[in-house]
Amino acid sequence: MSVTPHKPSAGSRITAVDTYDIRFPTSRELDGSDAMNPDPDYSAAYAVLRTDAGDGLEGHGFAFTIGRGNEIQVAALDALRPHLIGRRVDDMCADPGSVSRDLVGDSQLRWLGPEKGVMHMAIGAVVNATWDLAAKRDGKPLWRFLADAGPEWLVSQVDFRYIEDALAPDQALALLRRGRDGAGRREAALREHGYPGYTTSPGWLGYSDDKLTRLAKEAVADGFTQIKLKVGADLQDDIRRMRTAREAVGPDIRIAVDANQRWGVREAVAWTNALAPFDPYWIEEPTSPDDVLGHAAIRRAVHPVKVATGEHVQNRIVFKQLLQSGAVDVLQMDAARVGGVNENLAILLLAARYGVPVCPHAGGVGLCELVQHLSMFDYVALSGTTEHRVIEYVDHLHEHFEDPVRMVGGHYAAPHAPGFSATMRPKSIATYRYPDGTFWAADAAATREATA
Ligand SMILES: [Mg+2]
Repeated sequence: MSVTPHKPSAGSRITAVDTYDIRFPTSRELDGSDAMNPDPDYSAAYAVLRTDAGDGLEGHGFAFTIGRGNEIQVAALDALRPHLIGRRVDDMCADPGSVSRDLVGDSQLRWLGPEKGVMHMAIGAVVNATWDLAAKRDGKPLWRFLADAGPEWLVSQVDFRYIEDALAPDQALALLRRGRDGAGRREAALREHGYPGYTTSPGWLGYSDDKLTRLAKEAVADGFTQIKLKVGADLQDDIRRMRTAREAVGPDIRIAVDANQRWGVREAVAWTNALAPFDPYWIEEPTSPDDVLGHAAIRRAVHPVKVATGEHVQNRIVFKQLLQSGAVDVLQMDAARVGGVNENLAILLLAARYGVPVCPHAGGVGLCELVQHLSMFDYVALSGTTEHRVIEYVDHLHEHFEDPVRMVGGHYAAPHAPGFSATMRPKSIATYRYPDGTFWAADAAATREATA
């Protein structure tokens, strides 16, 4: 068939969903090490939606994993292919919620969740790829594509099933209409100042005290007003590291601590209170992400230290319960854990409804690139504020993306390029594809030689 460049055919369709198992050998430097995940190889189960539009545009999305099992995440992406091939590109970009509803609603795949785990993360990757394509076709970065959208249309993108008792569609509409007041002024402020970030880079559990001190001081010099320390392996070590960090940054810099689900409820309370003399700002993931009432109990017992969670919260329903039960001070949305932009819209609306600040989880591979768009939309056109809000930042693996995040004075600069900043460089894919990319093939050959 003939195609005209730069003029998408009205009848263009999805022709391929290409998937890739991409793994980075981060465990070798102890980058990303914490009390539950001592040796992560940051990985992406990556999907590319290709079309016959002839405009050169593709939709990119991924689920983040930390190594082994990424092949299972890729298999889950592959299982969604029949829902996507042949779909009209115009229709799916005009209503990404239709993709979300069809994938979440597959009556057989639903048994694998519902709306949680590997299958739901695969759906999130594909839904995010749809939004990436929609924003690229509109020529806007995703944050602006969302901020420019009408409140009624945004409400149509949210699945209110199971959350209507906490947030009804008319309440969501009212929040979005209120969010339009002053949106132009905030968009200008965002372009000028960016969105505040905090850094986890000094605080990985595997780093020495000297490295912690050096990186903490560098973070302050770079303009960050908050850093984060991984805790939870050994209490005496944590007390020493917390003291070291506090001495390095002084009293005015916030230090959050992150236990990555290491504790039961009682241990979480005792450990957090043992660190309290060093003024931790929040305790993150003190216990299982499913234990809503446990978080509420911890929050009552460690006040004024704040309680934060969300990077492993599986869907909007658990977030609803965390908010309804007063279990969290800080909601840590993740761009690639739940069912994509549509479900994250629901989560941002729930947070706005309860007045709880959203400080997204990021880092990993590509999570900073994605989630900045959601926070920037929230600032411009929903909550209307960055007060008590920061996006996590980790200085790893950005070089593998076509449009990497840019940090200026501890702030995320607003992206300009159309799309969701999800597109990975072809050379990075060719190098780190597992197990046959050039890095992993050479690594396997070296291992064979060493053991021969
Ligand atoms: Mg964390």
